[in-house]
Amino acid sequence: MHAFINTAIIAAAPSQYLWAGLGDTCAKYYEATISSRGEELEHFNALGVQMSRQCLDPLLQYGAQAMADNRNRHCSYALEQTVLAVIVTTGLVSILITRNHTADYNSGLAHSVFYTMTTLPHFEETHLHGAVVGFGVLPLLLCDGQMEEVERIYQFNQAVGLPVSLAQLEISPEQMESLLPLIPKTKDVAHYPYPVTVPMLKQAFAQLEARNRLDQNI
Ligand SMILES: [Zn+2]
Repeated sequence: MHAFINTAIIAAAPSQYLWAGLGDTCAKYYEATISSRGEELEHFNALGVQMSRQCLDPLLQYGAQAMADNRNRHCSYALEQTVLAVIVTTGLVSILITRNHTADYNSGLAHSVFYTMTTLPHFEETHLHGAVVGFGVLPLLLCDGQMEEVERIYQFNQAVGLPVSLAQLEISPEQMESLLPLIPKTKDVAHYPYPVTVPMLKQAFAQLEARNRLDQNI
């Protein structure tokens, strides 16, 4: 009947759950906008896609501060804004962008990357869904050619401690290469504005590795 959000409880909870929530919420904006791209949307779907912007912007503005405040158990304005984006905005968007029983605009390549990685033994025992989806936003953006956004999310992930490299997920480049053919088969990219292909993914992960190497040289 009712849902209650008590940010004082959230502020006192382990920060890893807020952390994972940041990744999943950030993905919502990119997955909703890409999977609905170029389509004549129903009014409620269009509303949801537009609202998804509010999944991203508060996180970019307040996410890093919210993580610091959560670690200090401080129920701050930044934490509240972040929690509202993670729970309220994402909830509303998810409901609005459901298209029909067989396909919707709720998922995309970031989730495909996560679900494919779950085929590795014990992966889900040590990695939270949202944190890996947050990593998956990077190959999603690389495949989509949104290079400025790649840099923005790369820096956001670093600022909040979300993974930016396969090494942080304890996955070798060879393991990832063997997973790539599974990604186009996931239902999350069944409704997408273009076919997601293995060569496209290969290039995206190579570009990500090159970006990772830049960090190590600094
Ligand atoms: Zn998710």
